[in-house]
Amino acid sequence: MTTALPRSVKPAPGELLPGYLLRLAHRIGGAPLDLAHRCNLTSGTELSTRFLVRLTELEAQRIGTVCRLDPAEAHAFTLARQYPGYAPVGDVYLGRHQSHTTMANDGWVFTAFSRYCPDCLTDTAHLPGGPVWHSAWRLPHTFLCPRHDRLLAWRCPACQAPAFSNRYASNSRWRRVQLTPGPDQRLHPAQCRHRAGTARTPACGHRLDHETPTSPLPTPQMSRAHERLAAAAASRPDNLVESCGQPVASEVFLHDVRLIALVVSRTWPAASALLAPCGPAEGTGTLDSGARTDGWVARSHDAPPADPFAAAALFSTVVRLFDHPDAGTVLARLLALIPTASPGRPRLRRLILHCSPAVRAILSDEARIRRSASGPPELFPQPATYLSLLDPSSIPATLPERWAGPLDLLDAPPRAMRRDAAIRLVQMASGHPRTAAARHLGIGPKVLPSTTLLMRTWQKQPGNAEAYQSAPRHVAAIAIRNGS
Ligand SMILES: [Zn+2]
Ligand SMILES: [Zn+2]
Repeated sequence: MTTALPRSVKPAPGELLPGYLLRLAHRIGGAPLDLAHRCNLTSGTELSTRFLVRLTELEAQRIGTVCRLDPAEAHAFTLARQYPGYAPVGDVYLGRHQSHTTMANDGWVFTAFSRYCPDCLTDTAHLPGGPVWHSAWRLPHTFLCPRHDRLLAWRCPACQAPAFSNRYASNSRWRRVQLTPGPDQRLHPAQCRHRAGTARTPACGHRLDHETPTSPLPTPQMSRAHERLAAAAASRPDNLVESCGQPVASEVFLHDVRLIALVVSRTWPAASALLAPCGPAEGTGTLDSGARTDGWVARSHDAPPADPFAAAALFSTVVRLFDHPDAGTVLARLLALIPTASPGRPRLRRLILHCSPAVRAILSDEARIRRSASGPPELFPQPATYLSLLDPSSIPATLPERWAGPLDLLDAPPRAMRRDAAIRLVQMASGHPRTAAARHLGIGPKVLPSTTLLMRTWQKQPGNAEAYQSAPRHVAAIAIRNGS
C-alpha cells in the first residue's frame, strides 16, 4: 500500500524521473532509494533505467500517490512522452521485451550517463529541492545548450567520472546501470554521485553547478545541426522533415541520422573532407577523443561519442551531408570506403530496414557501384579521403623513417611498400589516379610497374590486403602530426 508524502515538489518542465527524485529527496531530507521504495519502483537496491523511457499505468499511479502528482505528470517524466519523434525510445524500435541493460548498452536509446550544462544547473538552483537535470541531456544527439550557447559538459571536473554514470566496478565488470547512481546517498542534486570503490566509499560530492569547465564555443554549423535534431526528436512522429532532399516523418529521419552517423564515423574523416574539400574540416581528429575506449559509456560499436565536442563534430557532419545538394553521391562514395568485411556492414543492413526510401535507394546504388568498380579486393583502390587535410607536395617518394612505423609492422618488401604507401598518400591527398600520383612523386615508368608487381604479389597472400588497408591512414595521421 503506497501512502502520500506529507509534502512534495512540482515537476519542472523537461525533467525526468531520476532528476525529480533527487530534488524531492533533497527537499524532504531523504535518499532517492527511500523514495523509490515507497513508490514500489525498486527490485532489491536496484532502480531500473527502464523508467527513463516509459512507465506502466500502475507505476505512474504509485508515483502520483506518493509524490502528490497526477498520473499524467508521472508519465511526463519519460523520454517516450517528451520526445515522441525520437524513434529509438518508441515501442516499434524497442519491442516489448527489451531489458534496461540492453537499452543502456545500445547507446542510442539514452546515454548511460548525463551530459549537463553547469549554467542551467546554476539557473535552476533556486527551485524547491535544487537544480533540474534536463531530459534532453540523456539523448545521445544533444551536445549543446541553446539557452547558454555552449557545448555541454559530461565529466565531473574533480573525479573525471561522467555525471550519472555507474562505470565499471573494481573487478572490471560492468556495474548494472542504475536510474540514479548511489541511490542510497543523501546529496544535493548538483553533487557528483560517483563512488570510486565499494558501497562504503563516500561519493565524490563535487558540485557540478559551481565550476564551469572550459569548452570550445559551438560553431554555427553545430548550432544548426543541434536545432534540426532537437526539433525532430520533440515533434510528433509523423511530422514531416527533410532528409536527403525528400520529406520524411521525424521518426524515420532520426533512423536516417543513425545510419549516416555510422557511415560517417566508420569512414572518418572522409566525410568532412568530401563535404568541404577546400575548407577546414569540422572537428577533424576529434571523433574518438576519449569517447568509446574507456569503458564509461555504451558498448554498442555504433554508439555516438560521449564527449559533446566529438558528438558535435559527428552530428554537424551528418546534417551537412543531409543538406548537401548531391548527398546521394557523397553517401555512396563514403559507403564504398567501408570494407565488405567490416563489422559495420551487418549493422548497416539492420538499420537500413528502418530508413527512408531516399537513403535505402542510395544504399542499393552503392552495392551496384561496388560490384562494377571496385575490382578484386586484394588490389583495393585508394580513395581521396584526405583532400585538404594532407598536402601532396610534402610527401616524399620514399617515406622517411619517422613516418614508416605502421608499415614496418607488415611483412612486405620494405622499399616497394614505402614507395607504394607514398603513392597511396598522394592519392588520398589529391584524388589522382595511381599513375599520376607516381608521376607527381617522380617515380618513373620503369619503377612503377615493378613496385606494383611486388606489392600485388604480396597483397594476394591471405590477410595481407586487409592488414594493409588501414596502414596508409595511420601514416597519414603521422604526416599530419609532423606538420605536412
Ligand atoms: Zn544551459
Ligand atoms: Zn566527481
